[in-house]
Amino acid sequence: MNRQITKHMGANITKTLVLTYFVSVLAIFAQPDPHWKIHDSTRPKPVKVDPGYPGFNENPGKAPSDAVVLFDGSDLSKWVSMDGNPPKWIVKDGHMECVQGSGYIRTLQCFGDCQLHVEWAAPVPPRGSSQGRGNSGVFLMGLYEVQVLDNFNNETYSDGYAGAIYCQHPPLVNACREPGKWQTYDIIFTRPRFDMQGNLVTPAKMTVLHNGVLVQHESVLSGPTGWLRREPYRAHPDKLPISLQDHGNPVLFRNIWVRELGEDAKQPEFLYPESLLKKYAGEYGENGKIYILQKGDRLFLGMFDSRIENAFPLFAASPVDFFVKSVDIRVKFQTNSAGGVDGITWWVSSDQNSAKKTK
Ligand code: MG
Repeated sequence: MNRQITKHMGANITKTLVLTYFVSVLAIFAQPDPHWKIHDSTRPKPVKVDPGYPGFNENPGKAPSDAVVLFDGSDLSKWVSMDGNPPKWIVKDGHMECVQGSGYIRTLQCFGDCQLHVEWAAPVPPRGSSQGRGNSGVFLMGLYEVQVLDNFNNETYSDGYAGAIYCQHPPLVNACREPGKWQTYDIIFTRPRFDMQGNLVTPAKMTVLHNGVLVQHESVLSGPTGWLRREPYRAHPDKLPISLQDHGNPVLFRNIWVRELGEDAKQPEFLYPESLLKKYAGEYGENGKIYILQKGDRLFLGMFDSRIENAFPLFAASPVDFFVKSVDIRVKFQTNSAGGVDGITWWVSSDQNSAKKTK
């Protein structure tokens, strides 16, 4: 071959290789955090976690050491009925049982992006058919349902099977164990994002493993769970409680734990019953008042202004500690042994103030 042509071809191959190299490097760099060098020795090491183990048959399993345990088989202290009262579900033999007509239950703590582990068992002997057999549900943010149903020997519509994102995505396979046998759900949930005007920016997404088998793979949700229709998204807080469904069947649950993910893991947040919030509502201080306003299950802080539209939404960090998300404001309610509220302490950044409850 002509030496000139060989040289030309070589240059072309080199150009192609160099281009391919840079395109690949760019593709690789498109994903990992660009703030860190490859093998950066100053990059924080992964935190050590005791992984626990999933339950199987009679063994209820153990939560990872960094998980928030929502139910360990002993009591329902992390749960309330939807009206804020103690749940009427039964706890016995290390599990909880849904009581027909007692209503959904929800967690006191709120969660956004998370990994959720739930173990459940369908009733024995099986009763009913289609959606009437062993029906319950795990609702992320109280809005997005992963269906619980006894489909071991029971057919129903595809988007209503166990492991379905109800009304939207059938499970990839039917991985049900027989009724009475314990089953696991491992759910990776990404909450929807809304902009300041309440418009949807990115929809919710779920990956679900049923008994270790993938049944939802990054399924994108069209909105909250509806029945006979698909509901549109409506803007909601970044964190909301997880709820379990009462669909009239005595489904059992045990070993429920959750791990908050990303930014949502930074500040634990709770949604307390209205009966507690009612005690805090009122006016504080003599001159220049602080107003605590209540609207349903939410409190608002009015600084020298009693209009709710000008007040800051408060979020609960504990039964007495609340915070504002948009400004560095925290409040702490002073309670007394009689169960009443004496006053409030509030911080704007590090400036501390206190006032007695006057009304
Ligand atoms: Mg259901």
